[in-house]
Amino acid sequence: MRVAIVGAGVIGVTSAFAVKNAFPNFDVKIFADAFSPDTTGDGSAGLWGPFLLGDTPVDNITRWAGCTHQWFEQLWKAGLSSKTGVSLIPGTRVTSDYKDDIDPKWTKIVYGFQKITDEKLRRLNEEHKSNYKQGWQFITYTTEPVLLLPWLMKRFIALGGKIEKRNIKTLHELAEEGYDLIINCSGLGARELVADKTMTPIRGQVYRVKAPWAMHCFIVDDDSCNYIIPNIHSVVLGGTHQEGDFDRSVREEDSKHIYNGCCRVMPSLKGCQIIRAWVGLRPGRPRIRLECETLGSSTGKEIKVIHNYGHGGSGVTLCWGCATDVVEMIRNLKVQELNSKL
Ligand SMILES: Cc1cc2nc3c(=O)[nH]c(=O)nc-3n(C[C@H](O)[C@H](O)[C@H](O)COP(=O)(O)OP(=O)(O)OC[C@H]3O[C@@H](n4cnc5c(N)ncnc54)[C@H](O)[C@@H]3O)c2cc1C
Repeated sequence: MRVAIVGAGVIGVTSAFAVKNAFPNFDVKIFADAFSPDTTGDGSAGLWGPFLLGDTPVDNITRWAGCTHQWFEQLWKAGLSSKTGVSLIPGTRVTSDYKDDIDPKWTKIVYGFQKITDEKLRRLNEEHKSNYKQGWQFITYTTEPVLLLPWLMKRFIALGGKIEKRNIKTLHELAEEGYDLIINCSGLGARELVADKTMTPIRGQVYRVKAPWAMHCFIVDDDSCNYIIPNIHSVVLGGTHQEGDFDRSVREEDSKHIYNGCCRVMPSLKGCQIIRAWVGLRPGRPRIRLECETLGSSTGKEIKVIHNYGHGGSGVTLCWGCATDVVEMIRNLKVQELNSKL
Protein backbone atom coordinates (compact mmCIF):
# COMPACT_ATOMS: atom_id res chain seq x y z
CA MET A 1 0.00 0.00 0.00
CA ARG A 2 1.38 3.44 -0.94
CA VAL A 3 0.38 6.24 1.44
CA ALA A 4 0.96 9.97 0.86
CA ILE A 5 0.72 12.37 3.79
CA VAL A 6 0.30 16.05 2.91
CA GLY A 7 1.73 18.26 5.66
CA ALA A 8 4.71 18.17 8.01
CA GLY A 9 3.29 20.12 10.95
CA VAL A 10 2.61 18.42 14.27
CA ILE A 11 -0.50 16.74 12.80
CA GLY A 12 1.22 15.44 9.65
CA VAL A 13 4.37 14.18 11.36
CA THR A 14 2.53 12.37 14.18
CA SER A 15 0.12 10.81 11.63
CA ALA A 16 3.01 9.71 9.39
CA PHE A 17 4.93 8.20 12.29
CA ALA A 18 1.88 6.41 13.71
CA VAL A 19 0.95 4.95 10.30
CA LYS A 20 4.48 3.76 9.47
CA ASN A 21 4.86 2.32 12.95
CA ALA A 22 1.55 0.42 12.74
CA PHE A 23 2.03 -0.78 9.14
CA PRO A 24 5.78 -1.26 8.60
CA ASN A 25 5.25 -2.71 5.10
CA PHE A 26 3.44 0.36 3.80
CA ASP A 27 5.34 2.80 1.62
CA VAL A 28 4.68 6.10 3.46
CA LYS A 29 5.85 9.49 2.19
CA ILE A 30 5.34 13.01 3.58
CA PHE A 31 4.87 15.84 1.06
CA ALA A 32 5.05 19.39 2.40
CA ASP A 33 6.17 22.83 1.41
CA ALA A 34 7.28 23.67 4.99
CA PHE A 35 9.02 21.47 7.57
CA SER A 36 10.14 22.11 11.17
CA PRO A 37 11.21 24.72 12.30
CA ASP A 38 8.88 26.55 9.88
CA THR A 39 5.49 25.01 10.76
CA THR A 40 2.79 26.56 12.95
CA GLY A 41 3.57 24.45 16.02
CA ASP A 42 7.26 25.40 15.99
CA GLY A 43 6.54 28.85 17.39
CA SER A 44 4.07 27.61 19.99
CA ALA A 45 4.86 26.70 23.59
CA GLY A 46 3.13 23.34 23.09
CA LEU A 47 1.07 23.49 26.26
CA TRP A 48 -1.39 20.62 26.69
CA GLY A 49 -4.90 22.12 26.96
CA PRO A 50 -7.96 22.28 24.67
CA PHE A 51 -8.35 25.80 23.18
CA LEU A 52 -10.13 27.39 20.18
CA LEU A 53 -11.81 24.29 18.76
CA GLY A 54 -15.15 25.69 17.60
CA ASP A 55 -17.99 23.23 18.22
CA THR A 56 -15.89 20.06 17.92
CA PRO A 57 -17.78 17.51 20.10
CA VAL A 58 -16.44 17.60 23.66
CA ASP A 59 -16.26 13.79 23.83
CA ASN A 60 -13.93 13.70 20.82
CA ILE A 61 -11.75 16.47 22.24
CA THR A 62 -11.51 14.65 25.57
CA ARG A 63 -10.62 11.33 23.92
CA TRP A 64 -7.95 12.80 21.59
CA ALA A 65 -6.53 15.07 24.30
CA GLY A 66 -6.50 12.26 26.88
CA CYS A 67 -4.65 9.92 24.51
CA THR A 68 -2.07 12.64 23.75
CA HIS A 69 -1.61 13.36 27.47
CA GLN A 70 -0.86 9.66 28.03
CA TRP A 71 1.66 9.71 25.18
CA PHE A 72 3.44 12.75 26.66
CA GLU A 73 3.51 10.93 29.99
CA GLN A 74 5.15 7.91 28.32
CA LEU A 75 7.79 10.12 26.66
CA TRP A 76 8.43 11.85 29.99
CA LYS A 77 8.73 8.56 31.91
CA ALA A 78 10.94 7.02 29.20
CA GLY A 79 13.59 9.68 29.85
CA LEU A 80 13.09 11.30 26.45
CA SER A 81 12.41 14.86 27.61
CA SER A 82 15.73 16.31 26.42
CA LYS A 83 15.01 14.94 22.93
CA THR A 84 11.26 15.51 22.66
CA GLY A 85 10.88 18.74 24.64
CA VAL A 86 8.38 17.30 27.14
CA SER A 87 8.24 19.20 30.47
CA LEU A 88 5.91 18.85 33.42
CA ILE A 89 4.82 22.20 34.85
CA PRO A 90 2.33 23.64 37.32
CA GLY A 91 -0.32 25.88 35.81
CA THR A 92 -3.18 28.22 36.64
CA ARG A 93 -6.04 28.93 34.23
CA VAL A 94 -8.51 31.70 35.00
CA THR A 95 -11.49 33.07 33.10
CA SER A 96 -13.69 36.14 33.36
CA ASP A 97 -16.56 34.08 31.99
CA TYR A 98 -19.33 32.36 33.98
CA LYS A 99 -20.51 30.13 31.10
CA ASP A 100 -18.30 27.21 31.92
CA ASP A 101 -19.43 26.93 35.51
CA ILE A 102 -19.21 23.16 35.62
CA ASP A 103 -15.64 21.83 35.66
CA PRO A 104 -14.69 21.09 32.05
CA LYS A 105 -13.83 17.48 31.20
CA TRP A 106 -10.11 18.18 30.69
CA THR A 107 -9.79 18.71 34.44
CA LYS A 108 -9.99 14.91 34.90
CA ILE A 109 -6.97 14.35 32.68
CA VAL A 110 -4.41 16.71 34.22
CA TYR A 111 -2.69 15.99 37.55
CA GLY A 112 -3.58 17.54 40.91
CA PHE A 113 -6.57 19.51 39.64
CA GLN A 114 -8.05 22.01 42.10
CA LYS A 115 -10.60 24.74 41.75
CA ILE A 116 -9.29 28.10 42.97
CA THR A 117 -11.06 29.24 46.14
CA ASP A 118 -13.10 32.45 46.17
CA GLU A 119 -10.61 33.97 48.59
CA LYS A 120 -7.67 33.25 46.29
CA LEU A 121 -9.64 34.55 43.30
CA ARG A 122 -10.36 37.79 45.15
CA ARG A 123 -6.65 38.23 45.88
CA LEU A 124 -5.70 37.52 42.26
CA ASN A 125 -8.27 40.04 41.04
CA GLU A 126 -6.82 42.66 43.38
CA GLU A 127 -3.25 41.97 42.25
CA HIS A 128 -4.04 41.75 38.53
CA LYS A 129 -6.71 44.48 38.50
CA SER A 130 -8.91 41.92 36.78
CA ASN A 131 -12.37 40.41 37.02
CA TYR A 132 -11.77 36.66 37.02
CA LYS A 133 -14.89 34.68 37.83
CA GLN A 134 -13.32 31.26 38.25
CA GLY A 135 -10.00 29.50 37.96
CA TRP A 136 -8.22 26.16 38.21
CA GLN A 137 -4.80 24.94 39.23
CA PHE A 138 -3.22 21.78 37.88
CA ILE A 139 -0.02 20.20 36.62
CA THR A 140 0.40 19.23 32.97
CA TYR A 141 2.85 18.92 30.07
CA THR A 142 4.35 21.26 27.56
CA THR A 143 5.81 19.51 24.51
CA GLU A 144 7.86 21.80 22.29
CA PRO A 145 7.24 20.97 18.63
CA VAL A 146 10.59 22.51 17.69
CA LEU A 147 12.20 19.51 19.47
CA LEU A 148 9.44 16.90 19.06
CA LEU A 149 9.11 17.24 15.27
CA PRO A 150 12.78 16.63 14.30
CA TRP A 151 12.90 13.70 16.76
CA LEU A 152 9.76 12.11 15.32
CA MET A 153 10.89 12.78 11.77
CA LYS A 154 14.19 10.97 12.45
CA ARG A 155 12.31 7.97 13.81
CA PHE A 156 9.92 8.02 10.84
CA ILE A 157 12.87 7.97 8.42
CA ALA A 158 14.59 5.21 10.44
CA LEU A 159 11.45 3.08 9.94
CA GLY A 160 11.78 3.59 6.18
CA GLY A 161 9.46 6.62 5.81
CA LYS A 162 10.24 9.13 3.04
CA ILE A 163 9.88 12.89 2.72
CA GLU A 164 9.68 15.34 -0.17
CA LYS A 165 9.55 19.15 -0.10
CA ARG A 166 6.90 20.01 -2.64
CA ASN A 167 3.72 22.02 -2.98
CA ILE A 168 0.75 19.80 -3.80
CA LYS A 169 -1.81 21.49 -6.03
CA THR A 170 -4.53 18.83 -5.88
CA LEU A 171 -4.98 15.43 -4.25
CA HIS A 172 -5.54 13.96 -7.74
CA GLU A 173 -1.89 14.73 -8.50
CA LEU A 174 -0.85 12.17 -5.86
CA ALA A 175 -3.46 9.64 -6.94
CA GLU A 176 -2.11 9.82 -10.49
CA GLU A 177 1.36 9.03 -9.11
CA GLY A 178 -0.05 5.78 -7.78
CA TYR A 179 -0.78 6.53 -4.11
CA ASP A 180 -3.58 4.32 -2.80
CA LEU A 181 -4.36 6.48 0.22
CA ILE A 182 -3.83 10.18 0.92
CA ILE A 183 -3.82 11.60 4.45
CA ASN A 184 -4.58 15.29 4.32
CA CYS A 185 -2.86 17.11 7.22
CA SER A 186 -2.47 20.43 5.43
CA GLY A 187 -3.78 22.67 8.25
CA LEU A 188 -4.76 26.07 6.94
CA GLY A 189 -3.50 24.91 3.52
CA ALA A 190 -6.76 22.93 3.22
CA ARG A 191 -8.41 26.21 2.17
CA GLU A 192 -6.73 25.83 -1.20
CA LEU A 193 -5.84 22.14 -1.38
CA VAL A 194 -9.41 20.87 -0.90
CA ALA A 195 -11.19 24.25 -1.30
CA ASP A 196 -12.40 24.16 2.31
CA LYS A 197 -13.48 27.76 2.80
CA THR A 198 -14.62 27.06 6.37
CA MET A 199 -10.90 27.04 7.23
CA THR A 200 -9.95 30.35 8.73
CA PRO A 201 -6.74 31.68 10.27
CA ILE A 202 -6.75 32.53 13.97
CA ARG A 203 -3.77 34.84 14.21
CA GLY A 204 -1.54 34.40 17.24
CA GLN A 205 1.31 36.74 18.13
CA VAL A 206 3.74 35.85 20.94
CA TYR A 207 7.05 36.87 22.49
CA ARG A 208 9.76 34.38 23.41
CA VAL A 209 11.79 35.74 26.32
CA LYS A 210 14.57 34.70 28.69
CA ALA A 211 13.09 34.48 32.19
CA PRO A 212 14.39 31.29 33.83
CA TRP A 213 12.85 32.44 37.12
CA ALA A 214 9.32 32.03 35.70
CA MET A 215 8.44 28.38 36.32
CA HIS A 216 4.67 28.57 36.52
CA CYS A 217 2.25 28.66 33.62
CA PHE A 218 -0.53 31.27 33.89
CA ILE A 219 -3.34 31.52 31.35
CA VAL A 220 -6.05 34.16 31.19
CA ASP A 221 -8.68 32.38 29.14
CA ASP A 222 -10.69 35.35 27.85
CA ASP A 223 -10.50 38.07 25.20
CA SER A 224 -7.25 39.53 26.55
CA CYS A 225 -5.69 36.08 26.03
CA ASN A 226 -2.57 36.89 28.08
CA TYR A 227 -0.55 33.85 28.97
CA ILE A 228 2.86 32.90 30.28
CA ILE A 229 4.14 29.44 29.40
CA PRO A 230 7.65 28.36 30.43
CA ASN A 231 9.57 26.13 28.00
CA ILE A 232 12.96 24.48 28.58
CA HIS A 233 15.20 27.37 27.47
CA SER A 234 12.74 30.26 27.20
CA VAL A 235 9.29 31.45 28.18
CA VAL A 236 6.44 32.18 25.77
CA LEU A 237 4.34 35.29 26.45
CA GLY A 238 1.02 35.63 24.69
CA GLY A 239 -1.01 36.46 23.03
CA THR A 240 -3.69 37.19 20.53
CA HIS A 241 -6.44 35.20 18.80
CA GLN A 242 -7.60 37.29 15.85
CA GLU A 243 -10.03 35.35 13.67
CA GLY A 244 -9.90 35.72 9.91
CA ASP A 245 -6.61 37.67 10.08
CA PHE A 246 -3.93 36.49 7.63
CA ASP A 247 -1.28 39.05 8.68
CA ARG A 248 1.96 37.25 9.56
CA SER A 249 3.87 40.42 10.46
CA VAL A 250 4.57 41.39 14.07
CA ARG A 251 2.39 44.32 15.16
CA GLU A 252 3.61 46.92 17.59
CA GLU A 253 0.23 47.29 19.33
CA ASP A 254 0.03 43.52 19.91
CA SER A 255 3.59 43.50 21.29
CA LYS A 256 2.61 46.18 23.83
CA HIS A 257 -0.57 44.33 24.78
CA ILE A 258 1.40 41.12 25.34
CA TYR A 259 4.26 42.65 27.32
CA ASN A 260 2.10 44.89 29.50
CA GLY A 261 -0.58 42.23 30.06
CA CYS A 262 1.92 39.53 31.04
CA CYS A 263 3.85 41.88 33.34
CA ARG A 264 0.57 42.76 35.05
CA VAL A 265 -0.07 39.06 35.70
CA MET A 266 3.56 38.27 36.62
CA PRO A 267 5.44 41.48 37.52
CA SER A 268 8.75 39.61 37.84
CA LEU A 269 8.84 39.45 34.03
CA LYS A 270 9.66 43.17 33.80
CA GLY A 271 13.06 43.68 32.21
CA CYS A 272 13.32 40.12 30.85
CA GLN A 273 15.41 39.74 27.70
CA ILE A 274 13.27 39.44 24.56
CA ILE A 275 14.50 36.72 22.21
CA ARG A 276 11.99 37.25 19.43
CA ALA A 277 8.44 38.14 18.54
CA TRP A 278 6.58 35.66 16.32
CA VAL A 279 3.25 35.32 14.56
CA GLY A 280 1.54 32.05 13.60
CA LEU A 281 -1.81 31.34 11.99
CA ARG A 282 -3.78 28.66 13.84
CA PRO A 283 -5.76 26.44 11.46
CA GLY A 284 -9.28 27.38 12.63
CA ARG A 285 -12.41 25.51 11.56
CA PRO A 286 -15.97 25.31 12.93
CA ARG A 287 -15.01 21.75 13.92
CA ILE A 288 -11.99 19.51 13.41
CA ARG A 289 -12.20 17.42 10.25
CA LEU A 290 -11.07 13.84 10.92
CA GLU A 291 -12.87 11.55 8.51
CA CYS A 292 -12.54 9.32 5.43
CA GLU A 293 -13.68 10.44 2.00
CA THR A 294 -13.71 8.68 -1.35
CA LEU A 295 -13.13 10.97 -4.31
CA GLY A 296 -13.82 10.15 -7.95
CA SER A 297 -11.20 10.81 -10.63
CA SER A 298 -11.11 11.34 -14.39
CA THR A 299 -9.55 7.88 -14.84
CA GLY A 300 -12.49 6.32 -12.99
CA LYS A 301 -10.21 5.14 -10.15
CA GLU A 302 -11.46 5.98 -6.66
CA ILE A 303 -9.16 8.05 -4.43
CA LYS A 304 -9.27 7.23 -0.72
CA VAL A 305 -8.56 10.20 1.54
CA ILE A 306 -8.37 10.61 5.31
CA HIS A 307 -8.70 14.25 6.30
CA ASN A 308 -7.01 15.30 9.54
CA TYR A 309 -6.98 19.10 9.82
CA GLY A 310 -8.53 22.15 11.49
CA HIS A 311 -7.02 21.76 15.00
CA GLY A 312 -7.25 25.47 15.89
CA GLY A 313 -5.33 26.33 19.05
CA SER A 314 -4.83 22.70 20.12
CA GLY A 315 -2.84 20.82 17.49
CA VAL A 316 -0.16 19.79 19.97
CA THR A 317 -2.77 18.82 22.58
CA LEU A 318 -4.67 16.52 20.21
CA CYS A 319 -1.97 15.27 17.82
CA TRP A 320 -1.40 11.73 19.09
CA GLY A 321 -5.10 11.01 19.72
CA CYS A 322 -5.92 12.07 16.15
CA ALA A 323 -2.98 10.08 14.71
CA THR A 324 -4.24 7.01 16.58
CA ASP A 325 -7.69 7.47 14.99
CA VAL A 326 -6.06 7.72 11.54
CA VAL A 327 -4.43 4.30 12.15
CA GLU A 328 -7.80 2.89 13.24
CA MET A 329 -9.49 4.25 10.10
CA ILE A 330 -6.87 2.52 7.94
CA ARG A 331 -7.52 -0.79 9.74
CA ASN A 332 -11.24 -0.37 8.99
CA LEU A 333 -10.52 0.44 5.34
CA LYS A 334 -8.44 -2.75 5.08
CA VAL A 335 -11.25 -4.83 6.60
CA GLN A 336 -13.74 -3.32 4.12
CA GLU A 337 -11.34 -4.05 1.25
CA LEU A 338 -10.96 -7.68 2.35
CA ASN A 339 -14.75 -8.09 2.70
CA SER A 340 -15.35 -6.68 -0.78
CA LYS A 341 -12.92 -9.25 -2.22
CA LEU A 342 -14.67 -12.22 -0.55
C1 LIG B 1 0.76 31.55 18.84
C2 LIG B 1 0.32 30.11 18.85
C3 LIG B 1 0.37 29.39 20.03
C4 LIG B 1 -0.08 28.08 20.07
N1 LIG B 1 0.04 27.39 21.25
C5 LIG B 1 -0.40 26.11 21.31
C6 LIG B 1 -0.27 25.36 22.52
O1 LIG B 1 0.28 25.84 23.51
N2 LIG B 1 -0.77 24.09 22.54
C7 LIG B 1 -1.38 23.52 21.45
O2 LIG B 1 -1.84 22.38 21.54
N3 LIG B 1 -1.48 24.21 20.29
C8 LIG B 1 -1.01 25.47 20.20
N4 LIG B 1 -1.14 26.18 19.04
C9 LIG B 1 -1.86 25.56 17.91
C10 LIG B 1 -0.97 24.62 17.14
O3 LIG B 1 0.27 25.22 16.90
C11 LIG B 1 -1.66 24.23 15.83
O4 LIG B 1 -2.95 23.70 16.10
C12 LIG B 1 -0.86 23.16 15.11
O5 LIG B 1 0.47 23.58 14.97
C13 LIG B 1 -1.48 22.84 13.76
O6 LIG B 1 -0.70 21.84 13.18
P1 LIG B 1 -0.95 21.35 11.69
O7 LIG B 1 0.04 20.27 11.45
O8 LIG B 1 -2.38 21.07 11.47
O9 LIG B 1 -0.66 22.64 10.78
P2 LIG B 1 0.72 23.33 10.31
O10 LIG B 1 1.76 23.27 11.37
O11 LIG B 1 0.32 24.67 9.83
O12 LIG B 1 1.20 22.41 9.15
C14 LIG B 1 0.59 22.37 7.88
C15 LIG B 1 1.53 21.61 6.96
O13 LIG B 1 0.88 21.40 5.72
C16 LIG B 1 1.73 21.81 4.66
N5 LIG B 1 0.90 22.18 3.53
C17 LIG B 1 -0.26 22.88 3.53
N6 LIG B 1 -0.75 22.94 2.29
C18 LIG B 1 0.12 22.27 1.49
C19 LIG B 1 0.17 21.99 0.09
N7 LIG B 1 -0.80 22.40 -0.74
N8 LIG B 1 1.22 21.29 -0.40
C20 LIG B 1 2.21 20.87 0.43
N9 LIG B 1 2.21 21.10 1.76
C21 LIG B 1 1.18 21.80 2.28
C22 LIG B 1 2.54 22.95 5.29
O14 LIG B 1 3.73 23.18 4.55
C23 LIG B 1 2.83 22.35 6.67
O15 LIG B 1 3.88 21.43 6.58
C24 LIG B 1 -0.63 27.48 18.93
C25 LIG B 1 -0.66 28.19 17.72
C26 LIG B 1 -0.19 29.49 17.68
C27 LIG B 1 -0.21 30.24 16.38
